[in-house]
Amino acid sequence: MQTYQAPLRDMRFVMHELIGTESLVALPGCEEMTPDLTDPILEEAAKLAQEVLLPLNVVGDIEGCVYENGVVRTPTGFKEAYKAFCEGGWTSLAASAEWGGQGLPESLNKQVEEMLCAANISFSLYPGLTQGAYHALRHHASQELKEIYLPPMVEGRWSGTMNLTEPHCGTDLGLLRTKAVPQEDGSYLITGNKIFISAGEHDLAENIVHLVLARMPDAPAGIKGISLFLVPKFLVNPDGSLGPRNGAKATGIEHKLGIKASATCQMSFDEAKGWLIGEPNKGMRAMFTMMNTERLAVGVQGLGVGEAAYQSAVFYAKERLQGRSLSGAKHPDKAADPIIVHPDIRRSLMTMRAWNEGCRALAGWVAREIDISERSNDPERRQSAEDFTALMTPVVKALLTDLGFENASQAVQIYGGHGYIRDHGVEQYLRDARIAMIYEGTNGIQALDLVGRKMGAHMGRFLRPFFHPVSEFIEANKDDAQIGVLVGPFAKGFGALQLATGHIAQAGLKDPEEAGAAATEYLRLFGIVALGYLWLRAAKVANAALANGGASEAEFYKSKLATARFYIERILPQAAPLLAGIKAGKAAMMAMEEAAF
Ligand SMILES: Cc1cc2nc3c(=O)[nH]c(=O)nc-3n(C[C@H](O)[C@H](O)[C@H](O)COP(=O)(O)OP(=O)(O)OC[C@H]3O[C@@H](n4cnc5c(N)ncnc54)[C@H](O)[C@@H]3O)c2cc1C
Repeated sequence: MQTYQAPLRDMRFVMHELIGTESLVALPGCEEMTPDLTDPILEEAAKLAQEVLLPLNVVGDIEGCVYENGVVRTPTGFKEAYKAFCEGGWTSLAASAEWGGQGLPESLNKQVEEMLCAANISFSLYPGLTQGAYHALRHHASQELKEIYLPPMVEGRWSGTMNLTEPHCGTDLGLLRTKAVPQEDGSYLITGNKIFISAGEHDLAENIVHLVLARMPDAPAGIKGISLFLVPKFLVNPDGSLGPRNGAKATGIEHKLGIKASATCQMSFDEAKGWLIGEPNKGMRAMFTMMNTERLAVGVQGLGVGEAAYQSAVFYAKERLQGRSLSGAKHPDKAADPIIVHPDIRRSLMTMRAWNEGCRALAGWVAREIDISERSNDPERRQSAEDFTALMTPVVKALLTDLGFENASQAVQIYGGHGYIRDHGVEQYLRDARIAMIYEGTNGIQALDLVGRKMGAHMGRFLRPFFHPVSEFIEANKDDAQIGVLVGPFAKGFGALQLATGHIAQAGLKDPEEAGAAATEYLRLFGIVALGYLWLRAAKVANAALANGGASEAEFYKSKLATARFYIERILPQAAPLLAGIKAGKAAMMAMEEAAF
């Protein structure tokens, strides 16, 4: 059964105890972000996710979106839910007050996003893309465009899209052909075809603001000749009201494996009027502002669906009666024991739980560094937070989405045949989770970003805000009476990551294919170690809380300690084989002739 209760206690743990409220309230504009203010917001978001969005998840999957003569209808209930979403102020949560937003921190926003994605990934995509487009416009558009477009986008009356992909051009955007011809009034006429455009057409918002990558007539070939344009569905009158329809239309929607309530559109731009965002031929820079926001958001989609899958699996594991415990019947009054007694089911549940809570901690850490990078008065601290976010963006995107899918698959396995059929809804999680590993740059491309662009940037500067605190933590805690026993094995895992980093830096310098061959394993190793570090910190916080007599919450903290131990003993050891694969290099995978495949 699709069941979801927002993990509010764990969210509070991450925000206030693990990452700590102090670093948030110390930031300009965040002085009031104490638990008194943030906890009720999270509780309201939980209600919205559980009561409004979750019931629409299966409806959306069954009905899907419908395309008819250029119009896209979202499934039953989506329009009403979106209206309630906007009226509740959820579209404006993290937007700047300058544009009508509430100016709340990313630390809070990411946790709200997790709840939306857990309840209904398809729904979350509509406001999610608007948020990304908002960021790109806020940082790169002219003041005039910002004044026209940002306030209605922040209200949710207008939604946003990103138009990159073309039929012949996905990962390699340098190949794109859509044209932008300058006009005397300073606008451009955009002509071309895009595919796979999420929220390209729908019935939720009054207007749709497309951010479109296109090429000007005299642009250099390849990636250096791409510019970014704002192309509205309806042109906008000087007073902000909607004018005539622009030449941007959906010509169809895709029929796909999952996220069926998200309209994935084929778009045709036929001399559609658009305006340049940022500088000519520097479109990728502006688009990356949107893509980085989206990459983190997509990572959180993985976490959300992974959590929902875990909760459904726990529900079933306690209900389903099959076999007897290997250590003797636990429920002799029943025909059989619930499957949660079996070690193999425990292995799956503990793995899912350890991944989810670890990933929530990582997302919380990155979100806090985003807040610091945007708000701190200390330029050095801002820089290190920016470096950390740049380093971790591909890790969050790829690790959390890989694990979201793995967790969904484990949930199907726990349901057995009942997971494979439709009735219980867990197979939807598996289908919905799969796309997050592909869009916003496939996970393979995230791994290349990590080894190719982030690892060596500025002589390894991006690595420092991660490697330094981890080394210091090991040094400070290796003899800790309570967690010291876990620090030793963790130090080995961290050592594997250091060795892998050195190996790839050297081998990749001589032969870029060596770095390419190691990338995916390196990203997983990086993620496993990052989560290990956070699990140790979580264990330290839990021990301190128990020592301080937190009796009313003893179960919560004891569960943290049990899961931390499971992670270090049963998951972290995966670091060693990953290092072995990385060190083996490209030879075995490149040896065979192409024709032999
Ligand atoms: C449901 C859905 C929604 C989407 N939403 C949007 C959207 O809103 N806007 C938008 O613009 N796009 C969107 N996309 C497109 C999506 O971002 C692309 O599908 C994705 O970036 C991959 O591009 P591609 O499908 O053309 O695959 P390709 O680029 O053809 O890649 C095929 C495979 O080759 C690998 N590969 C490619 N190049 C390299 C390389 N240099 N090194 C190693 N491996 C490589 C890839 O990792 C992949 O595994 C969406 C797609 C889907 C299915």
